[in-house]
Amino acid sequence: MQSSVLVVGGGISGMTAAIEAAECGRQVYLVEKEAYLGGRVSKMNKYFPKLCPPLCGLEINFRRLRVNPLVTVMTGSKVEKVTGASGDFTAVIKTAPRYVNEKCVACDDCVKVCPVNRPDDFNYNMSETKAVYLPHAMAMPAKYVIDMSVCKGEACSECVKACKYGAIELNMEEKTTTVKVAAVVYATGWKPYDAGKIENLGYGQIKNVINNVEMERLSAVNGPTGGKIVRQDNAEPVKKVAFVQCAGSRDENHLPYCSSICCLASIKQANYVRDQYPESEVSIFYIDLRAPGKYEAFYKKMEKDKNVKFIKGKVARIEQDESGRATVTVEDILGGGKLKESFDLVVLATGMEPTMKTDKAVDVVLNDDGFMELDRQTVDGFIPAGVASGPVDVTTSIQNSTGAALRAFQCGVGKRG
Ligand SMILES: Cc1cc2nc3c(=O)[nH]c(=O)nc-3n(C[C@H](O)[C@H](O)[C@H](O)COP(=O)(O)OP(=O)(O)OC[C@H]3O[C@@H](n4cnc5c(N)ncnc54)[C@H](O)[C@@H]3O)c2cc1C
Ligand code: SF4
Ligand code: SF4
Repeated sequence: MQSSVLVVGGGISGMTAAIEAAECGRQVYLVEKEAYLGGRVSKMNKYFPKLCPPLCGLEINFRRLRVNPLVTVMTGSKVEKVTGASGDFTAVIKTAPRYVNEKCVACDDCVKVCPVNRPDDFNYNMSETKAVYLPHAMAMPAKYVIDMSVCKGEACSECVKACKYGAIELNMEEKTTTVKVAAVVYATGWKPYDAGKIENLGYGQIKNVINNVEMERLSAVNGPTGGKIVRQDNAEPVKKVAFVQCAGSRDENHLPYCSSICCLASIKQANYVRDQYPESEVSIFYIDLRAPGKYEAFYKKMEKDKNVKFIKGKVARIEQDESGRATVTVEDILGGGKLKESFDLVVLATGMEPTMKTDKAVDVVLNDDGFMELDRQTVDGFIPAGVASGPVDVTTSIQNSTGAALRAFQCGVGKRG
């Protein structure tokens, strides 16, 4: 019997489960597919309801991880296979080459000489990085990485020549690691629903129609515009902004469930607009506004702002007008009649789709929406955490990930009874 825990996914949920387990004395393997930890939260500008920067909370967790010798962090890695049973699993983990080794001191000299650009996926492709890059300014680990799908390889080697520390290894190879664990916690999180599939809302066709995760990056000081919320066609400041709720959510053709956080995310982002442009006007088009429990006060505060209108009605379509603005047509249910209004920027409140729906881990059982519920698992010892188990906010993710760590203790050595 084993006592170690494997955690798949290094977002806020996976980090929480890993830290809680390690601080209770368990050996933990934390496996993250990206080159950095933090998941989607690291791409947020601020957290509702306090509107504080998420990087503060992440930094506390990074520190707890750094000082704990029981956690082995494996970035750029995926679990290929898990065999065995609760208390005695064997997992095979593949780690993609980073092409930059432990000697990297993040001096940025390689970036200055690299001739190749690539879309910056951290900024949802709204900006570019070089082929060799640091994923983002606060990345953990603070190590550079090379995107070999665009790198010119040894024929170029400019970065190798520029690096005084011998940190670049263009011939680095994939590694395979096998670990023995008692339980596997799946904290694989979510991705934004592809708004391009919602044909009437113009995403991907109208420049000034963006989604809510892009709005987080657009508002962030380390984002593509240095935090300036601007029109996407001409970089002019925005005067009128609309938020379209339930873009794809609660719709049998897209995501049948409520993503539970998008109303709060739009209210938060309305704050970003109002703070940056005191004269700006914001309209929030909703079917039902959901601000449960402690979040009610956050909504009520925004409701008092005279420049923010909450309009109940499902948006029928969004079109581009001659000036490039986005025109929203909506049935105003409470006011009566059809509304047609143009905006500098329209933000679609797209929902959270579970990553495992399209990137399923072996033997994990998912419900019809693609989430992993504990009670449905046929393998005892496979434990969901955070948004992998349902669409929830950060506080709930942290709570249920702590629960997932406790559940993992019930597998293998140390279990009661
Ligand atoms: C627009 C928007 C704004 C939001 N704002 C807030 C807010 O202000 N406050 C709040 O409380 N909540 C907010 N949320 C919700 C918040 O983002 C989630 O609660 C949080 O991201 C959950 O974290 P997680 O770790 O479960 O998932 P994620 O953040 O998605 O992390 C999952 C991690 O797992 C990794 N992963 C995925 N698959 C694999 C695999 N097969 N192998 C290895 N690694 C894998 C991913 O790369 C990622 O790092 C917002 C959501 C949206 C859509
Ligand atoms: S790889 Fe070398 S040149 Fe690039 S940041 Fe790291 S230490 Fe500097
Ligand atoms: S070898 Fe690749 S990463 Fe290095 S400078 Fe050339 S293109 Fe950039």
